Amino acid sequence: SVLFLSQIPTNAAGLIECRCHPFWSQKYCPSHENDNTARCCSCERLESRNARYVALGDGRSLCLECLESAVMDTGDCQPLYHAIRDFYEGMNMRIDQQIPILLVERRALNEAIIGEKNGFHHMPETRGLCLSEEQTVTTILRRPRIGENQLVGMRTYPQKLIRRCDVTAILVLYGLPRLLTGAILAHELMHGWLRLKGYRNLSPEVEEGICQVLSYMWLEAEVMPGFVNKPSTSTASSSSSSSSKKGRTSAVEKKLGEFFLHQIAYDASPAYGGGFRAANAAVKKYGLASTLHHIRLTGSFPI
Ligand SMILES: [Zn+2]
Ligand SMILES: [Zn+2]
Repeated sequence: SVLFLSQIPTNAAGLIECRCHPFWSQKYCPSHENDNTARCCSCERLESRNARYVALGDGRSLCLECLESAVMDTGDCQPLYHAIRDFYEGMNMRIDQQIPILLVERRALNEAIIGEKNGFHHMPETRGLCLSEEQTVTTILRRPRIGENQLVGMRTYPQKLIRRCDVTAILVLYGLPRLLTGAILAHELMHGWLRLKGYRNLSPEVEEGICQVLSYMWLEAEVMPGFVNKPSTSTASSSSSSSSKKGRTSAVEKKLGEFFLHQIAYDASPAYGGGFRAANAAVKKYGLASTLHHIRLTGSFPI
């Protein structure tokens, strides 16, 4: 549980030991990092006495704020997917191929990683995947209901993927809020775009870095639609269409979006974090199109 400062027990030296989340400023005892206190798999905040979480049934927990906009089944995900394809099109990066997007459980995602012939460089906790093999993937057909602190009654379906192009499907982990699902989708779609456009053998830093930039740009357009430097060729309002169609990005959702942006920007890993910062600096200086052109020619970011 999360206590008020005055309630946090002192250590042997009589001092208060306290950890603080760098974005949310949530203060907590170090002991909660090892006890069974639930941590939201999306926003990282710890469960507290006055904020109970929902168990997703695969070891993950979700706070109620993240649950509010959670994307729970494959059908649920399609409007978001269309909005992100529109976003790509608005940046002159139209994708003509029909790539299926499937929402999956954690187990199905991990099985799909094993089923791919080419190795992946991915995060310790993979949340999305761009597939190129013909596999059978267990997709979520119908969202589970929320029972007592638990999700029940999910219906899944084994879907056989057919290879029509170099990308057979994009998989995204279910149960994450709309903005995080979209950020993952935008990232994976960029892997797909690179593959379909013939970019090959990029280093993890370059490939993950540029994919994180697309993810970041999409999030930015969702969270602060007025402040985004859109390329001059973009079609009006394409990038913010998903939120405007829904008619709202609530204050809670906006704050979550800012957290996901923060996570991308300050990621400590060399490929994702270092790659993002290098890619972002290049895109800021030369623009996205020139940066991509340079990557195609040299396999590295322009400096
Ligand atoms: Zn959360
Ligand atoms: Zn990636």
